[in-house]
Amino acid sequence: MNNSSSKNSSKVARDIILSQIKQDFVTPANAIFDYIDIVEKALIKLDFPSGDELDQVKSSCTKLINQYDEAFNIYAKGTAKKTQDEYAELRHNLRTPLNAIIGYGEILIEDFEEDIPESRTRRIIINDLKHIIDLARDTEKAIEVFVDFIKGESIELEESSSSQLETAQALFKSLGDIEYSISLSDELKESDILIVDDNKTNCEVLERRLSMSGLTCRTSYDGKSALDEVEKQTPDLILLDVILPDINGLELLKKFRSKHAAESLPVIMVSAFDDVESIAKCIQLGAQDYLPKPINGTVLLAKVVSTLERKLLREREKELVNELHIQATTDQLTGIANRRVIFETLENSLIREKRKDYQPFAVVVFDIDFFKKVNDTYGHSGGDEVLKSFANLLDEEISQPNQVGRIGGEEFLAILYKSEDDTSIFLKGLISKIQKNVVNYEGTNIHITASGGVAFSEESETSSDLINKADKRLYKAKKSGRNRFILVNSEINGEK
Ligand code: GH3
Ligand code: MG
Ligand code: MG
Repeated sequence: MNNSSSKNSSKVARDIILSQIKQDFVTPANAIFDYIDIVEKALIKLDFPSGDELDQVKSSCTKLINQYDEAFNIYAKGTAKKTQDEYAELRHNLRTPLNAIIGYGEILIEDFEEDIPESRTRRIIINDLKHIIDLARDTEKAIEVFVDFIKGESIELEESSSSQLETAQALFKSLGDIEYSISLSDELKESDILIVDDNKTNCEVLERRLSMSGLTCRTSYDGKSALDEVEKQTPDLILLDVILPDINGLELLKKFRSKHAAESLPVIMVSAFDDVESIAKCIQLGAQDYLPKPINGTVLLAKVVSTLERKLLREREKELVNELHIQATTDQLTGIANRRVIFETLENSLIREKRKDYQPFAVVVFDIDFFKKVNDTYGHSGGDEVLKSFANLLDEEISQPNQVGRIGGEEFLAILYKSEDDTSIFLKGLISKIQKNVVNYEGTNIHITASGGVAFSEESETSSDLINKADKRLYKAKKSGRNRFILVNSEINGEK
């Protein structure tokens, strides 16, 4: 490695550590906002005025984030060393709004304990305020890590962040179930969302945000278990952190894409790096969208909902196309292939030069005997039952690659990839099954017979000519007593 690239990679490492430090600060700081929001909503529910103190907590939190941002930009990006006094001042400036948050938080707890009558909601509100205070203390620790880092002192990133995460995780768990008003369709609410982030606080915040809108999530804290979760059941959406302890998010995205197309498994990348290049890379690798950390609840919900809606619409579209395909290819009454499909199959079977697997075949035109009588005796619906049962029998007996379809009222056409001898054997069995088939219609057993004409592919080059030949033989079969199939030089008779 040459000098400039090693300098480069140490800068990248420093940037990664810095964004991690920023993350550890911003996550609890933003969570404070979330809790203020939650407390405000609960107070509205109780019809209790939220008062100045809550606004003070809110503005202190804004001040805290602004000051941190400013300090982060000035100190973290700059290389010039600062004096000890300047570091002390920075620490002090950041702590001031924190102390205000803690102070006002404690006042609010006392006030509410006095003024709000005891109830479940009050207990939740007090708990949330305690979380705010705890989060402020977590932020205090993050400030220490930040100041130490820019002073160049070594820090135990892992340790400091993990204890913070555990506290925050416990906090979110006790949040209870306050009702929220954003409404989503029931269908969307059934969506299965997988959150993949090694930062447990991030997972909890995301989960909490989404559950406010009635969405449920699974979570994975590393790449390996994310792969397992997806294997177990393909989710409707993955929120994927770019930095994970074992496999990086982009590699994981590639792995997902190797098995699932983007439209069947949408992925939204979540990352503290907001540089355009890594966002572009995520999109190129098949991510649907991108969410910058710290996550804004409204943007999160908008992106999650629109991604889920798009997926749902695509699925509906697919179902509709399938439905249309079924309608276009099946006969409505009997459910077997319709005239168009069976004629197309016949045409294709005749294109010898295009079919490497060309096989000679027989064309059989079936016509039910005296079907008009069935209609006359049992009515049109009795006739329909006979047609359905006859079609069903043909469909069961004529299996792939052979094909059968309904070509008209009580006429059917089959393509049998069989020699003349095998066709004879097959039709001998079939004619007896047709005779034995009983249709029970409104308590009466209806029996029918059928006649057929058979032509063979070797007899002609065109489908119309083949059908003509089969039709002529069918006519002959009708003329000579019905319940029979006429082939080129032979005939098969049903039992008398
Ligand atoms: P043959 O033995 O000579 O074939 O006599 P047939 O009575 O079977 O023949 P014909 O062609 O005279 O009568 C066919 C009847 O099938 C006439 C028509 O009303 C009836 N039909 C056509 N389509 C349907 C249908 O979808 N449902 C019912 N129930 N009857 C139908
Ligand atoms: Mg008929
Ligand atoms: Mg007919």
